[in-house]
Amino acid sequence: MSGKPQLRIDYGHLRHNVEEIVAFCSNHDIAVTGIVKVFQGLPALVKAFVEGGCTSVGSSRISQLKRIREWDDTVKTMLIRIPMLSELEAVIAHADISLNSEWSTIENLNTLCKKNGTTHAVVLMFDLGDLREGFIDEGAFIEAAIRIEERLEYIDLAGIGTNIGCYGSIKPTAANLTRLADLARQIEARIGRQLEIVSGGATTTLPLLKEGRVPSGINHLRIGEAISLNRDLPEYWGVAFSELHDDIFTLVAEIVEIKEKPSQPVGEVFIDAFGRHLDYEDIGPRLRALLAVGRLDFGSHDQLIPLDPGIRIVGSSSDHLILDITDSGMAYRVGDTVAFHMYYESALYLTASADVEKVIQGE
Ligand SMILES: *Cc1c(COP(=O)(O)O)cnc(C)c1O
Repeated sequence: MSGKPQLRIDYGHLRHNVEEIVAFCSNHDIAVTGIVKVFQGLPALVKAFVEGGCTSVGSSRISQLKRIREWDDTVKTMLIRIPMLSELEAVIAHADISLNSEWSTIENLNTLCKKNGTTHAVVLMFDLGDLREGFIDEGAFIEAAIRIEERLEYIDLAGIGTNIGCYGSIKPTAANLTRLADLARQIEARIGRQLEIVSGGATTTLPLLKEGRVPSGINHLRIGEAISLNRDLPEYWGVAFSELHDDIFTLVAEIVEIKEKPSQPVGEVFIDAFGRHLDYEDIGPRLRALLAVGRLDFGSHDQLIPLDPGIRIVGSSSDHLILDITDSGMAYRVGDTVAFHMYYESALYLTASADVEKVIQGE
């Protein structure tokens, strides 16, 4: 340890997961854009997605795509958040393709491309009911697609797509994805050519794919979580992808205090550092370890999973994590480290924290 908590990243396991997901999807004639926003698009990790067979890599942040392009300008990049009107210069400079849902934005992209002597590809988004991004009216959607094809010389209509299970908690189903596939067929009939991309969602579409129930016509997915964390499908969906690793990210943090303390705070209980009223159960005096890592680094402590099964996470504040180590078989001392696996949110925060050292292993 070098005076900072470490985030250890197992490159070999990440690369393995990319290859497994790409092969699984390819068996169903589906191409994969690897979504790299959960680890800030760190180029050293993006490499695993490119070498593992993803057709492109995507992020919600143009700054990450810019960094990826500076690292390797042959990587195909996809902007997966609807672009701001104020970032369109950067969009055509750093993204080959972007997800879009506003005519005025797409028209502005066309104007900018013309000015800069370049072209840009778009995937037009349709909202199947999750109520985040996308056209919700089928007629307006089809018209927009046709107008791109017929009127915008510098914009390539690469295809259409949808996003499900983000805001509205809607499940991808054979029924809602068939609507998307039907829309693709209607657009294809009108423009007289095949769409390259019909993008049927993200990690949450994989269970349906595993059941063989993703309708034909869906030929693309944008996968992040299942590759990088592989926690959501086994835990929330009860769908195991046993060939995937779930130990790619490990947080290692140092103990700065060990003391036996009461389990119930002493004095008049009011609010914590974040203004919340919490319940503290009295289970008698417990041996507690204080770690030099906090919410600024990992988000919420319920997103961390201690590797030592005898450890219970008690709480956290901006810069501290409090553990109950009473039942651990390990004789921890100040200066020792404790390791954790994690869910999506903690990987998101930890990879962004300037106070956490990233150590990529097994490259
Ligand atoms: C984040 C995101 C994804 C990837 O989702 P995962 O659950 O990580 O697979 C795909 N598409 C869009 C538009 C996203 O914002």
